Amino acid sequence: MVFKLFKSGDELYDEGKELIKRGEYDKARDYLQKSIEKEGGIDDAAAVKVALIDLRDRLTNVNAYRNLLNALENFRSHDRFEFGLTEISRDELITECQLTIRKIELLSSGGEGQALMDKGQQIQGLAQEFQSRIGDRHLIILELFKNDTSVTGMTEFFNLMAVSYECMADAVVWDNPSQAAEYEQIAMGYRQQNGQSGDTNMAKVKAYSTTCTCWLCGRIATGEGIHFFSAPAEVSPALDDKDKPTARSRPDNDAQHIYICRACYSAVSNRSDEISRGYYNQTMQEMRAMEARLQAQIAALQSQIAFARMGR
Ligand SMILES: [Zn+2]
Repeated sequence: MVFKLFKSGDELYDEGKELIKRGEYDKARDYLQKSIEKEGGIDDAAAVKVALIDLRDRLTNVNAYRNLLNALENFRSHDRFEFGLTEISRDELITECQLTIRKIELLSSGGEGQALMDKGQQIQGLAQEFQSRIGDRHLIILELFKNDTSVTGMTEFFNLMAVSYECMADAVVWDNPSQAAEYEQIAMGYRQQNGQSGDTNMAKVKAYSTTCTCWLCGRIATGEGIHFFSAPAEVSPALDDKDKPTARSRPDNDAQHIYICRACYSAVSNRSDEISRGYYNQTMQEMRAMEARLQAQIAALQSQIAFARMGR
């Protein structure tokens, strides 16, 4: 019997396949990589499997998805391949990679104003593609590596629609808080269809649509936390806003807070910052003077000690 020293590409590929089934991905990757070097593997899916294994711990890394997409596009011999115990359609995984790459890129991009509005619109377009191209199917990658089949094209659709309206709300809240409240309301609807509470959206709807009369200047402001703030204060009964202006100048049944518009609020806090900075500078100056005095006294003492030692 001839002892076989080197394994063929096909043998290496088969061992890689078995190791994936056992969940030994790092070892599997080594075997598959060696099989690629020997051009083994009957269905030529080794490069796809290596890219999948490399993606495993980098599910938010756009480059890992790009590598996988590239490997899938070069794998043309079959429509389907197996990975562990799962049979995967090449085209479905290609779609998932394409949409996920766009999702990661869009969600990690910043922007404000019009750019944020455009981002919201683009996310909406992407949401609709998740709906039409994946629909009720669950995402393959999450099934493979997270054992999670609850995320589908539809849940991604609802989630991204919510995110898109939240983006648009952020884009307009500075100029138009009532419009932002409407967008947050729509986002809440999508979150609820996705089984989430939508509480954060509800809190924003409430804040953005709340109107007040500034206690200090009497202007009307809409959008709590953006255009006016609730500030701690002591409101004695005699000071109560008894003439009932169009909008409240403090929260109901709360004698510890008043509403202040952004202009008054920033004027007061800027002035108080200036005052604190003044005190800080004055304190630092006094400390430096004290330090100089102490240093001088220490130096005098040291020279007296040295003088005394010399006299012994
Ligand atoms: Zn004011």
